[in-house]
Amino acid sequence: MSSLTFSHTVTERFLRYVTIDTQSDPESPASPSTEKQKDLGRVLAAELKAMGVADAHLDDYGYVYATIPANTDKKVPVICFCSHMDTSPDCSGKDVKPQVVKDYRGGDITLPGDSSQVIRFAEHPALKNQIGNDIITTDGTTLLGADNKAGVAEIMDAAHFFINNPQVKHGTIKILFTPDEEIGRGVDNVDLKKLGADFGYTMDGESAGCVEDETFSADGATITINGVSAHPGYAKGKMEHAIKIAAAIVERLPKEGCSPETTSGKQGFLHPIGIDGALEQATLSFIVRDFTEEGLKEKEILLEGIVKDVMKDYPRSSYKFEVKEQYRNMKQVIDRHPHILEYAIEAIRRAGLRPMRTAIRGGTDGSRLSFMGLPCPNIFAGEHAFHSRLEWVSRQDMEKAVQTIVHLAMIWEEKA
Ligand SMILES: [Zn+2]
Repeated sequence: MSSLTFSHTVTERFLRYVTIDTQSDPESPASPSTEKQKDLGRVLAAELKAMGVADAHLDDYGYVYATIPANTDKKVPVICFCSHMDTSPDCSGKDVKPQVVKDYRGGDITLPGDSSQVIRFAEHPALKNQIGNDIITTDGTTLLGADNKAGVAEIMDAAHFFINNPQVKHGTIKILFTPDEEIGRGVDNVDLKKLGADFGYTMDGESAGCVEDETFSADGATITINGVSAHPGYAKGKMEHAIKIAAAIVERLPKEGCSPETTSGKQGFLHPIGIDGALEQATLSFIVRDFTEEGLKEKEILLEGIVKDVMKDYPRSSYKFEVKEQYRNMKQVIDRHPHILEYAIEAIRRAGLRPMRTAIRGGTDGSRLSFMGLPCPNIFAGEHAFHSRLEWVSRQDMEKAVQTIVHLAMIWEEKA
């Protein structure tokens, strides 16, 4: 294996990209949901073009597509690296002021713009692996946006490396930057034909060395309750209150398990996310999560069982129980192409890290891409405490992610 010399640009890029506000908006029907996401898209497309990636462009939906042409005679599968440009609507992403804590010595990090915001060593166990590293945080007034601008900057740095190191052999590499991942619409308008990749990797995972080939399977469940209304002064023996029925259902949800706050690892849950109601009609919205289809089904049967049981006390009221598929565990797809994961693990090892396979208690662009025909596991980007003002990432972890991308492309060429 030849040794590679890296002169990284990832941190400098990251510090610039996070200052561009790209917050997505779940209330907006537009695509992208916010025009400002294109501000970053334009910068990325222009920087790629300036590097010599001739076809780099931003489309009307806010996606950036680019191709680094193959420099080998071998027939290598086309690999795509993908990250999302938007940041979470849960926390402000406007006027992000990043700071770099150089040569971190351990202990708490108090954020300079709001001293009530402290990244506590005891509450962020991943900090133990960062002694001596340069940690990037915000000033405490916004999120950082390492989710997922760390991934964006890493892919950009890897592209920069390939362009400047033509002696490093690789097949065709596709780059895809998406909008609106945080609101679950990241791949709604992606053009996979145009992208033309065989396999993909999202760069959107947490700790250095992690690769994820499993996500939740996800459904949404909606319960609509139709009660019986009556004038409150003359309601005795007549009224059946939809709000009270809804409350009774919520009250009977399992308390020892099956909720986000009582589960971890491979356990799934039922989770109410919305309640809306008046006397005559009330609606309860749930998300249902598990790693298997059977697990989802079990939880939906459990939920409807609770509803039926509660409705016994309200004989003149009725309910409607609807389940909608949201996304499925990508493992089903990725297991059919074992090389995708094997090569990622090997690339992480070659970057000098200990590979760790983990399962995501959530979904990614990759879970939907996998089922759309682009098998797409998730590789670490180094982001921690995302969607919060305490978000952080280290320079060293981002550099390792860049090296993983480079090795991964080299391995696909080597094995072809
Ligand atoms: Zn993300």
